[in-house]
Amino acid sequence: MLIYDSVKKEKVEFISIKQNIAKIYLCGPTVYDNAHLGHARSAITFDLLHRVLTKNNYEVIFVRNFTDIDDKIIKKSKETNKSIDEITSTYINSYLNDMSALNILKPSLEPRATQNLEAMFKMVQTLLNENKAYKTSNNDIYMRVKKDPKYGTLSNRQNLESQISRIGENEQKEDIRDFALWKAFDSKDDIAYNSPFGRGRPGWHLECSAMIEEHLAYKDEEFSIDIHAGGADLFFPHHENEASQSRCANNRELAKYWIHNGFVTIDGEKMSKSLGNSFFIKDALKIYDGEVLRYYLLSLHYRTPLNFSHEDILNSKKRLDRLYRLKKRVSGVESHLIDTNFRDNFLNALNDDLNISIALSILDSMLSQYNELLDKNPKDMQSKQLALSNIIFINEILGIGEKDPIEYFHIGVDDETKAYIEAKIKERQEAKNKKDYALSDSIRDELKSKNIHLMDTKDGVIWEYITEI
Ligand SMILES: [Zn+2]
Repeated sequence: MLIYDSVKKEKVEFISIKQNIAKIYLCGPTVYDNAHLGHARSAITFDLLHRVLTKNNYEVIFVRNFTDIDDKIIKKSKETNKSIDEITSTYINSYLNDMSALNILKPSLEPRATQNLEAMFKMVQTLLNENKAYKTSNNDIYMRVKKDPKYGTLSNRQNLESQISRIGENEQKEDIRDFALWKAFDSKDDIAYNSPFGRGRPGWHLECSAMIEEHLAYKDEEFSIDIHAGGADLFFPHHENEASQSRCANNRELAKYWIHNGFVTIDGEKMSKSLGNSFFIKDALKIYDGEVLRYYLLSLHYRTPLNFSHEDILNSKKRLDRLYRLKKRVSGVESHLIDTNFRDNFLNALNDDLNISIALSILDSMLSQYNELLDKNPKDMQSKQLALSNIIFINEILGIGEKDPIEYFHIGVDDETKAYIEAKIKERQEAKNKKDYALSDSIRDELKSKNIHLMDTKDGVIWEYITEI
């Protein structure tokens, strides 16, 4: 399997530290607000990686954290007069609901910063003991970046200027590049934890390094884990700082491979709260079905910037409709057959750095191929079985195509409309029985004008709601 390592800046063969085990850490959300489509894309990208590795017979151990200590959370708590716990549990639940609507596999572990303070203390103490961190007179603790000759090599920032993320936050810093491991209690802040270094709270970068070491890392290998994953916006300073403090505390590199997914943009600009163009997942889910949204966010290669487009989502829906239409055609069969050729081609495409464009074109060809075979011979049981087996395979890898096809085509129709449609179908049947074809046709046409398409099948009339562009 080839993956693009964003540190080496090239596609490399994935060779796991231990055979058939893949340990992945993904930086999760800071839970001070609802998650937006950028978060959805990151989750979906690495969910795909998770599934593809599983299909390649890896046991995947996948950890995704919740950052539940942060300035933004404290700010939100003050603004809303709600406790920190109330804020973080609200947005953790909201995130988990989003993930389930997008059919993201549950991680092996979802550690929270607040529950891993001991692991953080341990890492800070090691860095202090080795003189790679220092305390300022106000009791902040900083990473001493000049002790790490490799600082900047992860995100390829060789000169000092490019290694500065924030300027002048503490004038007692020895080096402008030094970053906070521990922020001492400040009376302006409402939140602080007891620690061996006094009351305060951890710096953001620390938690990922500490939690990886605590929950995921190999103890005696050259690298702590196989893959560190996250959005491209986290490359610097977050991942650079994670890599640096882990390297200095553990005398080895944090991850063998680093993978970053591209941005989601709106009108060409990066989606962000400060630009006011963020699009929450939960709002998108009010307009689009989670599966359609998933297909759409999957359908562009993960490293390419994705410019959010309503029209492209509807096109994704049409492609997904084709899958479900074949599923409907083959429903009721049991499948024990395997289309080895299709499976190999499909997996090979994804094994090339998750080449989704090729994989989806192989999927489209497969749909055409089996539709043609069934057009020629609607009773071709072998084709039906192979087609169904392929759809199940697709579902396992892409996380789409799981629904009952009849239900899929009813999404977006409320119960009242469903009852109306059923009544109309009955009325049309009665008209047909009386050979009143003018009436039966007019009923069909009336429903069609509302995007409800009727189909007469051997098991009775079924209907589909087709979204128009
Ligand atoms: Zn992180």
